[in-house]
Formats: sequence, C-alpha cells, structure tokens
Amino acid sequence: MAGKNVGIEQIVNLSKRRGFVFPSAEIYGGLGGFWDWGPLGVLLKNNIKREFWKAFVQQRDDVVGLDGSIITNPKVWEASGHVVNFNDAMVECTKCHHRFKAGEVKKTCPDCGGKLLPPRQFNTMFKTFVGPAEDTANAAYLRPETAQNIFVNFEAVAETMRLKLPFGIAQVGKAFRNEITPGNFVFRSREFEQMELEYFVFPDDAPQAFHQWVTVCHQWFRRLGLSANHLREHRYQPDELAHYSRATTDLEYAFPIEGGWAELMGIADRTDFDLRRHGRVARGRDDAFAVADASGKKVVPYVIEPSMGVDRAALAFLLDAYQAIAGGRTTTTESIKEEEVVLKLDPRLAPYTVAVLPLSRKPELQKVALEVAATLRQQWSVSYDETGSIGKRYRRQDEIGTPWCVTVDFDTLEGAKRPKGTVTVRDRDSMEQENVAVEELEAYVGEKLK
Ligand code: ATP
Repeated sequence: MAGKNVGIEQIVNLSKRRGFVFPSAEIYGGLGGFWDWGPLGVLLKNNIKREFWKAFVQQRDDVVGLDGSIITNPKVWEASGHVVNFNDAMVECTKCHHRFKAGEVKKTCPDCGGKLLPPRQFNTMFKTFVGPAEDTANAAYLRPETAQNIFVNFEAVAETMRLKLPFGIAQVGKAFRNEITPGNFVFRSREFEQMELEYFVFPDDAPQAFHQWVTVCHQWFRRLGLSANHLREHRYQPDELAHYSRATTDLEYAFPIEGGWAELMGIADRTDFDLRRHGRVARGRDDAFAVADASGKKVVPYVIEPSMGVDRAALAFLLDAYQAIAGGRTTTTESIKEEEVVLKLDPRLAPYTVAVLPLSRKPELQKVALEVAATLRQQWSVSYDETGSIGKRYRRQDEIGTPWCVTVDFDTLEGAKRPKGTVTVRDRDSMEQENVAVEELEAYVGEKLK
C-alpha cells in the first residue's frame, strides 16, 4: 500500500453516516455482495459517468454510444466463450460447507479448520428465465460485462452511423457476476456498473491505439484527482494474458486492502477474437464482420477495450480524497480545534457543487438564500442548510466534499463591511473567503469548474 493512511473502514463509515452507500436492503440484514447507493452516492456516480461520457464520447469525433439490454439472447454468451470459460475455481469445506475462491485459502477452512474438497469450476454468470416457463429452453443470463452488447451491434452501429475505422462504441451500464468472495466494500460486488469502450481498428494500428488508450485512461483518472503515487500501470506478461488478448495493461490503484495494489481498470487488445466468434456463430463465417481496408481487402477489425468499473472508480476517488486532519485547521476566518474530515474530491465529481447557507434563520436571510439556491440548482446540485452554527455547517460540507459554500448574511441585504448584494464564497480546501455579487455567482462557479 503506497503511503496512504485511510482505510476502507473510514470510507464505509463515512458512506453510511452521510448517505453515499448502504448495505442493500439493510432492514432485512442486507445481501452479500450487493449495495444500495444513497443520495450522495448517486450524485457521485452520476458525475463519474458524466465525466467518462464527456471524455470518451462527447469530446471525440470517433466514438458513439450504445445502451444494450442486460438480458440478451444466450447465444451471445455461448459465442463469446462466457458459458464455457467465465469460471472461478471454488473450494468447499467438508464441515461447515462455506465456499472460497481456490487460491485464496490453503488446505483447511479458514472459518472452522475443516478439510477442503478439491477445487471445482463454478460459472459466475447469474442465470434466470425468460417468460413464464422455468425450463432450460428459456434460460438466460444477466450480462457479466457490457462489452458483448457492443460486439453484437457492431454491424448495426457501423451501418446506421456510417462509420469507418477507426471508431469506438462506448457503453455504461450494470453488470452482474456471482463472485465467490465479494468483499472490500464496493471493490468487488455481485452487481456493479461498468464503463466500457470498444475501439475498432485495422490490425496494424492496434498496438499504437492500445498505447494511446492506456494514456487516455491514465490521464483521465489523474485529471479527476487520483494522485500519481497511488496509480500505476501493470503490463501483463505473455503468460498472464487472457486467451483472447494480445496485450493487456491494468491501471492499478493503491487500495488499502490485503495485497495492496489492485486492478482499478483494464485496457486490452482483444484482437479480432470477438468479431470472429460472433461472425462464426451468428453468420457461419469468421469474417462476416470484415470491412474493406484502403486497398479494398476485407479484414476483420481488431479491438482495443478500455474497461472500468464505476463503483470501483468511486471507491478510489473517495479514498484518494479522504483526509482526516487531526486537530483541525486554522485560518484568519476559521479555527477548528478538533479532528476534521475533508473530502478533497475534484469539484466535477463532488456530490454537491455548492452549498447555500443563510447565516441565521432570519426570514429575510432565508428568502435570499433560497432564491440563490434555486438559481444555482438550474445548473448544479446544491445543498441548502440552515441548521447549526455556520462553522458546523462548513464542517458538514467539508466532510462530503462540497467545494464551495455560499453564505448569505446581513451584508448581503444591507452592505456594511461588504458591498450590498454580495455573498461570501468559502473554498473547501483553502478555507479562504471571497466576496462575490449574487448576480455573478453562476459565472463564478462556472469559471471554477472549467
Ligand atoms: P478482477 O480481476 O478484480 O476480478 P476482472 O479482471 O475480472 O477484475 P474485468 O472483467 O476486466 O475485471 O472488468 C473490468 C472492470 O470492471 C474492472 O477493472 C473493475 O473496475 C470492474 N469490475 C469487475 N468485476 C467487478 C466486481 N465484482 N465488482 C466491482 N467492479 C468490478
């Protein structure tokens, strides 16, 4: 673990206390590997997804989007290899019947010391039935990744959008894996969200595109706040590669979990494996999805796949942003004498962009503050808080990462120490306050977010 002093427990506590993440259906005792994202968690995840979409789709001229179905024709998973290969080896205890991922435990059961049976292969796709009859003819799977939706729509998307190589198709959505050992909070769960991109290229261009996407992904995480010393690239050795991949690099984050550095996301050169497989199974020809190159020769495109988890990214952003400051912070305007938690999230990711705080509950202050909040809400998520001392309210916002607190006070109404019609804007990280005219607020925040 790379010099980080925050543990998963602190994030779990913060998440529960402030409404980022709850155990799923906790009133019924929860369900292992499932989580419910609370009001602040939804805002955080939406911001992550929006920044992904902006950087990987909107701001590029070579990527389009897709939203495929979670349950699809099971032939997709036969062709992709998931029915046969999407397995984990599992061992079971002969005494307490607890199950573990093979490799994670030694000869005896870590729970009761009982003898373990030899490893068995276990397919981690969730099965379900389509229609009223629960028989094998109607069996289907919940998708374990979003990527296959993209491959099976390659032709339809390319044709309707008149796309020529190189081009990409991106998708954000839920994926489901019946993980044997979910854990470490939302790091490994059984239901999670992925942000994936399949970037189709001519085979000769694949190595260069692979390197470019590794750089794009690395920079995306850095730009949104992950510190350089907590993020590294792990290039797979040939013997580590999945059967469909010619090159893979994981971006690893220094998660404070057993083993330390762990996969945050992966970028893989999947060659033409997927398009060939679907060509063969759906159309009877490996090259059914081939396209013409400059010389008119038909070639099956190669694909570079950046694949990331929204939940795992959210956990990394929370860990990196979390700072517990023993003894608090002191500036000319504020003095905090107790331990303080500041969530230094990038403003683009923070659940609330702005908090609006009337200095007291005087109706004339409330009126202006509510108007200011309503105006800012047209563009950003805004927290309005009028309870407790102003210092306490700043602390509450610091803890959830709100970058700017707008305070409406008597100078706003009357002007004495400051011009009339101005508010103070307090910065989460520096705790400095600036005077800003109410009508300038939107431009002020907009400028800061650039
Ligand atoms: P791991 O080795 O951690 O099981 P993986 O190599 O199986 O991950 P991929 O299939 O490459 O993962 O999935 C791409 C991304 O989706 C991962 O980098 C991760 O961010 C996310 N992801 C995969 N499985 C889970 C899970 N069970 N819970 C949360 N996120 C996940």
